[in-house]
Amino acid sequence: MRDFEARRMKLAGGSPTVALNARGIRMKEEGIDVLSFAAGEPDFDTPEAVKDAAIEAIRRNDTHYTSAAGTMALRRRIVQKLREENGIEASEDGILVTPGAKLALYAAMTCFLQEGDACMVLTPAYPSYRSGILMAGADYVPVPLSFDNGFVVTREMLEAKVTKHAKMLIVCNPCNPTGHVLTEQELRDIADFVLAHDLLLIADEIYEKLIYDGRKHLSLGAIPEIRDRVITLNGLSKSAAMTGWRIGYSAASPELTKVMLKLQQNTVNCTASFTQTASIAALDCAADAERMRLSYLERRNLICDGLNAIPCIECPRAEGAFYAFFRIDCRGMSSEQLADYILEKAGILVVPGTAFGEGGEKCIRLSFAASRESLQEAVKRLTALFSE
Ligand code: PMP
Ligand code: GLU
Repeated sequence: MRDFEARRMKLAGGSPTVALNARGIRMKEEGIDVLSFAAGEPDFDTPEAVKDAAIEAIRRNDTHYTSAAGTMALRRRIVQKLREENGIEASEDGILVTPGAKLALYAAMTCFLQEGDACMVLTPAYPSYRSGILMAGADYVPVPLSFDNGFVVTREMLEAKVTKHAKMLIVCNPCNPTGHVLTEQELRDIADFVLAHDLLLIADEIYEKLIYDGRKHLSLGAIPEIRDRVITLNGLSKSAAMTGWRIGYSAASPELTKVMLKLQQNTVNCTASFTQTASIAALDCAADAERMRLSYLERRNLICDGLNAIPCIECPRAEGAFYAFFRIDCRGMSSEQLADYILEKAGILVVPGTAFGEGGEKCIRLSFAASRESLQEAVKRLTALFSE
């Protein structure tokens, strides 16, 4: 039989974060003693009010196709949320409700990128950006940021990588995996850059509620000069602990949204109806989101303090999201070698920094959305391993 796989799928590859998470689940099922910190997933249950809203919706037979863009009630609530919390002026026609932010991301890349286009990504970055760009047939252009200066981006760094083929820039704020939260200056530089080169900007804000030490989340889509070229991505996976519900959305101009709607109409049709109804309740769960944030903050401090006490480890305090992204200086080992070594010798599953692209060398990502006991045990095992 011939090889049926399309070239772009070969290039894209699978998702390392999803694959490693599956590996952790499999190892546990096989009874292997493994502590898995590979998955970036809240360890909280979905708030009761959200579950109740979904059950009630099902009982009311809210179980049919909805409008492809999403129900008007949910889109209206998202518009209100964006205005009140993010300073983003969107209209209902500019909202697309998708099964997970990942689908909104895929839609944005598929609908606006094609062969000959280049898409720039600040790296280390969420691996599905690179894969999505390659699945769209476009060129992936990493803009590597540096561990040593806290992964700050400047206009010069962006200018150094831009070509005449550049069409899109993807920015994750707060960042998975580095935890960096963009400052006002960085936002300004990004905005000036996309305007100067006439680019589309994807602002992935899925971690916006997880932000620490008094920092403030600033939305790129709120900057007036670029608002018509920004596609803001968000969802409830992280803020309302709803990963399995598959609910996300994009916010952009009605013109851009109309293009993405074509993909939705021809693929998933719409997001699950009762999930959409429950999401209206989820957007009202600010107290739950804050309770979760405070708990992540406490666990961030626990893991960072523990790891920084190990001489060869440098673990900056994540400014946002729920990942410790730390560097290990040990016998010249690469990030893959380090991840393998940690799994083999300490029974701890983590993600090598280079899974997130350039800039992740010698780094490891560990999700601290895990129990205090497991984090304490990880610190104990890593201390023993790297103090040899
Ligand atoms: N963007 C980033 C940066 C993420 O970490 C995730 C979570 N995996 C997503 C998008 C997608 O989230 P979801 O599809 O669960 O809404
Ligand atoms: N957000 C998670 C992570 O980065 C989930 C896995 C994924 O979507 O790739 O690990």
